[in-house]
Amino acid sequence: MTMQQVADWQQRAACRGPNQIIFFPPPRIERRSEKRMREERAKEICQECSVRTDCLEYALTIREQHGIWGGSTEAERREQFQARNN
Ligand code: SF4
Repeated sequence: MTMQQVADWQQRAACRGPNQIIFFPPPRIERRSEKRMREERAKEICQECSVRTDCLEYALTIREQHGIWGGSTEAERREQFQARNN
């Protein structure tokens, strides 16, 4: 995926704008229940996103360790990455 391709799909990301904040942990300690609710909200947005496949592929390629990408959490991506590489 070229930098231009990344820029193109990111332009169409459903998480652009004020919703972006829920895709990453806040700069303070987050309770488990808060984290679960935040991640569920972010995943709902991902479900409707037209670039979900590109987003997930990108996050797996660069091994993004933080936030919700392509409808997946950090832990879910770790599992997917390991499954691919076994
Ligand atoms: S799939 Fe989710 S994280 Fe990725 S661009 Fe779309 S809304 Fe954002």
